[in-house]
Amino acid sequence: MKIQLLNFTQNPEETVAQAARLCYSDRGIGELKKATVGDKSDRIIKKIMELGHYSVLEHVSFTFGIEGISRVTSHQLVRHRIASFSQQSQRYVKVGEKQEYIIPESIEKNKKELLLKFRKLSQACFSLYHEMLAEGILAEDARYILPQAIITSIIFTANARELTHFFRLRCCNRAQWEIRELAISMLKLVKEIAPNIFKDAGPPCLTGPCPEGEMTCGRPWRKENDS
Ligand SMILES: Cc1cc2nc3c(=O)[nH]c(=O)nc-3n(C[C@H](O)[C@H](O)[C@H](O)COP(=O)(O)OP(=O)(O)OC[C@H]3O[C@@H](n4cnc5c(N)ncnc54)[C@H](O)[C@@H]3O)c2cc1C
Repeated sequence: MKIQLLNFTQNPEETVAQAARLCYSDRGIGELKKATVGDKSDRIIKKIMELGHYSVLEHVSFTFGIEGISRVTSHQLVRHRIASFSQQSQRYVKVGEKQEYIIPESIEKNKKELLLKFRKLSQACFSLYHEMLAEGILAEDARYILPQAIITSIIFTANARELTHFFRLRCCNRAQWEIRELAISMLKLVKEIAPNIFKDAGPPCLTGPCPEGEMTCGRPWRKENDS
């Protein structure tokens, strides 16, 4: 998979800090802007994260270009309703001769015979797809035979509040490996840009006990690890 941070709100931490200060200050917006330049943002961001005043995070958003993920994963991704998506269409874009699809490591590494069957069946699906196109069937109908493993490209935009929620769910060991890999890569990219906003972003066990009950992976939360 290939993940790029395509764009983001300029000066995200200053913007969030300015919005937070506005809520608690009688000063004008221009004055507040001066008060939130550079390092001065750190303290107020820490405070709002502790207070849970997350609505101020909605003023900044990040846009990612995501390539080479399976349709299994893009389907999981688009369940996040507060984000915005543009995905390459299988109605208007025909799948090329070079069939690219994701093979999970469990199948790739451990099950030689299953791997052969997986490849053979996937290729049979692609062959039938192209045969249907050649017979004049529209791509929008021929695509019904394509495997979920087929790769896709998607542009994803979300504000920092939604991203924090996304990282909480999808960086967790309970999330499936492919979307977890994607979420972890995205988190690395935004941490470089907004380290204070995303300092504690990630699975719930970074900031408190695991909420997964009997489904827990058993990883202790960070404070327990530290002690
Ligand atoms: C480990 C794991 C397993 C999963 N398994 C399944 C499964 O078996 N079947 C399945 O269908 N899905 C499954 N999902 C997907 C899951 O149910 C959610 O659809 C997905 O994680 C998006 O989460 P969300 O709704 O919290 O987030 P978003 O859609 O990103 O929304 C963010 C938050 O906004 C609020 N919000 C958004 N829309 C509404 C609304 N209409 N009304 C009220 N509040 C709203 C909620 O507080 C929500 O948490 C799974 C997810 C995970 C992480």
